[in-house]
Amino acid sequence: MSALKGKTALVTGSTSGIGLGIAKTLAQNGANLLLNGFGDVEAAVGQIERLGVKVRHHGADMSRPEEIEALMRFAATEFGGADIVVNNAGIQHVAPVDDFPPEKWDAILAINLSSAFHTTRLAIPGMKARGWGRIVNIASVHGLVASANKSAYVAAKHGLVGLTKAVALETADTAITCNALCPGWVLTPLVRQQIDSRASRSGRDFAAEQKALLLEKQPSGDFVTPEQLGALTLFLCGDAAAQVRGAAWNIDGGWAAQ
Ligand code: NAD
Repeated sequence: MSALKGKTALVTGSTSGIGLGIAKTLAQNGANLLLNGFGDVEAAVGQIERLGVKVRHHGADMSRPEEIEALMRFAATEFGGADIVVNNAGIQHVAPVDDFPPEKWDAILAINLSSAFHTTRLAIPGMKARGWGRIVNIASVHGLVASANKSAYVAAKHGLVGLTKAVALETADTAITCNALCPGWVLTPLVRQQIDSRASRSGRDFAAEQKALLLEKQPSGDFVTPEQLGALTLFLCGDAAAQVRGAAWNIDGGWAAQ
């Protein structure tokens, strides 16, 4: 499959979970990959390398605008720019608003929202010059509805959906599209952490807590998978989606439909 041959995709936060899943799908379809994120970088790079495309990693901290600028310069030097930008890096913190550490608020807003502003502002000139671009923002069902004890995350993801619409309007007369994905629960390290901490509070084991988590919000009773998010991203990168602009795609087992 080579639908994206000759294109370069930057996927932020792509050393694990959803970002790595999306990176794999794009690479399977011929895109070269610029990975970003922390942790087991070697394993992530190896998984993409095996798919036979060019892959590089840049460890920019997405909470720091100057490091994002370095990341985008690296994209230009190594690949001639990013044709596809998937803004996926994200963190989470669970606490009531009156007990929410201000530094966590700042970090969540910086990584989940402001980083997408910076990659977008830096990617658009190159996309315009090359006459094509795709921006896919990994928001969340929390970009459409709220849950208690997630004020910063809910605010950041609602903001990311808003940014998606604004950018789509500003690029409406170009071949650049900007859309958001709004996933429900996906069983990644981020969610495993939340299940673990819920389990230690409730005294239930991991499996029971996982079932309770799904029952609470996600009517399908199943997790969304990184592969499903990869497939939707691939669709948004294709010609069939050229007129899909400023959309926020629920992919949440029915969560936001309730
Ligand atoms: P994850 O913890 O598995 O992966 C997060 C990635 O972001 C990792 O590669 C990590 O290294 C990277 N990262 C974290 N902080 C960073 C920073 N400061 N700079 C650069 N990279 C950084 O999480 P995930 O579940 O795969 O989440 C990915 C995205 O999907 C997030 O934006 C999250 O909000 C969103 N999301 C997740 C779920 C879910 O259920 N897992 C649901 C909806 C939305």
